[in-house]
Amino acid sequence: MEFECLNCGEKYSFDSRNFKCNCGGLFKIPEKPFQYETDLELGEVKTPLIKKELAGHEIYYKLDYYQPTGSFKDRGARLLVGKLKEAGINEIVEDSSGNAGAAVAAYSAAAGIICNIYLPEDTSPRKIAQIESTAAVIHKIQGDRGATSFAVKKAARDNYYASHVYNPLFFAGVATIAQELIEDLKKIDEIILPVGNGSLLLGIWHGLKELLVKEDIPRLIAVQAEPVSPIWDEFHGKNLKSNTYTKNLAEGIAIKEPARKKEIVEAIKESNGNVILVKQPEIKEALQQLWNQGIYIEPTSAVGPAGAINYFKNKDLSNENIVIILTGSGLKYN
Ligand SMILES: [Zn+2]
Repeated sequence: MEFECLNCGEKYSFDSRNFKCNCGGLFKIPEKPFQYETDLELGEVKTPLIKKELAGHEIYYKLDYYQPTGSFKDRGARLLVGKLKEAGINEIVEDSSGNAGAAVAAYSAAAGIICNIYLPEDTSPRKIAQIESTAAVIHKIQGDRGATSFAVKKAARDNYYASHVYNPLFFAGVATIAQELIEDLKKIDEIILPVGNGSLLLGIWHGLKELLVKEDIPRLIAVQAEPVSPIWDEFHGKNLKSNTYTKNLAEGIAIKEPARKKEIVEAIKESNGNVILVKQPEIKEALQQLWNQGIYIEPTSAVGPAGAINYFKNKDLSNENIVIILTGSGLKYN
C-alpha cells in the first residue's frame, strides 16, 4: 500500500516514516476507502440510528459514540492501527489528548503496539484518564499546543506517526459511517456534523463518494463553534479571528489551523453544503435538550444539534431525510 502526495503525486510506502511528502504536501485520502480491511477488533458495532424531533423537524441521530472507547474515532484508529500491526510496526507516536488519543491508545493496546501519546503539560487530568488506563506512554510537553506538535514531529523521525490528521488510513476507517447510513436510509438529503480537523467530515465524504452517484450524495452541513471557526471563515470568506479560550464547550473541535482545511471546504462545496456557526450558549442549550431526552453525549457532540437548529430556521425541510452525527459519549466527561 502506498500514500500519494496531494501536491506533486510522489508516492510513499504507507509504513515509511514520512507522515507527509518531502514537498510539504499532505497525503491523499484514498478514493476507494473500503478496499482496506483489518482483523483487529475491540467489539465494534454498527451504531444505532434513531428518529427524533428537533426544533419541529423530524431528524435522525446517528449515535456514533456506541463504539469501544466511546467515540467515532475508533473507526479510524482501528483500521490504522490494524494495518500497522500487519506491517510489523511495534511502536507509534500520536498527539491528541482527546477522543483520537483514547482511540489510538486503546487499539494499540489491543494490537500489542507501544503507543506514545504527546500532549500539552496543562491538559486536564480528566482528559488524560482514559488514555492513561491503557498501556500508553504519556509525554507531557511544556508550552502550548505548538510545542506538543513540534515534539511529536521530532519523535516521528524514530517511530511511526499514527496521526488522525495526516494519516489517510484514519479517514478511510471513518468512511464506514457512510456505509451504515446508506444501509439504513434509502435517501439522505443532509448530514449535519461538527467539524474541527475534519476526520469525521472527510471520512464520510470519501465513503459517500465511493458508494453513491453524484446526484444522490447528501449535502454536508458542517458546524463550527465560536470562537474557533477557520472552516466557517474560509467557506464564507470572512475572518472572525479565531481564538482559543478556556471556557469552550466544543473543545474537541477547537482547531485553529486544520491541516486539511482546503480539502474540507472543497468537500462541503462539492456536496452543495454549508457551514453553520454556533455560539457557546446555543451548544449548552442543545446539550441540555438532548440530555433531557436521555441522550447522554459529550458537549462537543451538541454542536451538531445546535447547528441544526440554526440551519432549520426559515426552511421547509419536511420532505427531507436529515441525519445528525453524535460523535462522543457523555460518560467520558464526568
Ligand atoms: Zn509532494
